[in-house]
Amino acid sequence: TITASIELTEVCKFKAIKHIVLIASGKGGVGKSTTAVNLAGALQAEGAKVGILDADIYGPSIPMLLGLEGVTPTAKNDKQLLPFDANGIKAQSIGFLVPSGDATVWRGPMASGALTQLLNETAWGELDYLIVDMPPGTGDIQLTMSQKVPASGTVIVTTPQDLALADAQKGIAMFNKVNVPVLGLIENMSHFLCSHCGEPNHVFGKDGAIKLAQRHGVPVLSQIPLAIDIREYSEQGKLIAMDNQAAVSKTYADTARLIA
Ligand code: ADP
Repeated sequence: TITASIELTEVCKFKAIKHIVLIASGKGGVGKSTTAVNLAGALQAEGAKVGILDADIYGPSIPMLLGLEGVTPTAKNDKQLLPFDANGIKAQSIGFLVPSGDATVWRGPMASGALTQLLNETAWGELDYLIVDMPPGTGDIQLTMSQKVPASGTVIVTTPQDLALADAQKGIAMFNKVNVPVLGLIENMSHFLCSHCGEPNHVFGKDGAIKLAQRHGVPVLSQIPLAIDIREYSEQGKLIAMDNQAAVSKTYADTARLIA
């Protein structure tokens, strides 16, 4: 039985952080982490002070996405860990603390203990935004995190595919239950632009997120294409949102403005 008991009662720990935004998804593999880092990058490019917390305890990908693989954390003092700097973004991840693969076999209490430590013991300093890359799904850990972290709101990432949408819907229901405002949906891998004719192909279905959003009275913040350069930048540990030569960087910038 997985029981998560995150005790984050000391909400004052977050007082130097203006907004905490949870980036969530019903399913894994929909591009939640890719979206989270690029939204962080877009906010940073606008001049905000930004941090990102990788709370995806069983599949931390922020170290790879920010080009920070293999780094080891340094303590500021007995009680605090220093976040890492990636293009001015402060980053903390379970992936920095344990060898990759180790956390995947943790039971709930150990996973939530590690999350508590990351949240409470990172010396974030002053931030305009802390972007939290949530674990996918709507289990006990997600629920407890949503209840204990004083979040301004959540953004749910989904693909237009029915299966992803069904799980995104569960996410909306969970956040409604714990009174975390759903700022909107992001439809990732929304379409693929044909490299020959430029026509959009709706590989995973068309406008699924729009229909889901309408049913729940929340906005669709953006429809991000399935794009080769998004994957390539990610694999190189670079943020495409911070490269204004890349067409999609404008999409991330516009999306970030909607959650700012
Ligand atoms: P999640 O956090 O939801 O598990 P990831 O962000 O790790 O998903 O993305 C899963 C895979 O899809 C990664 O290989 C990533 O590079 C790729 N990916 C994500 N979004 C896009 C996109 N819009 N276009 C192309 N590839 C993408």
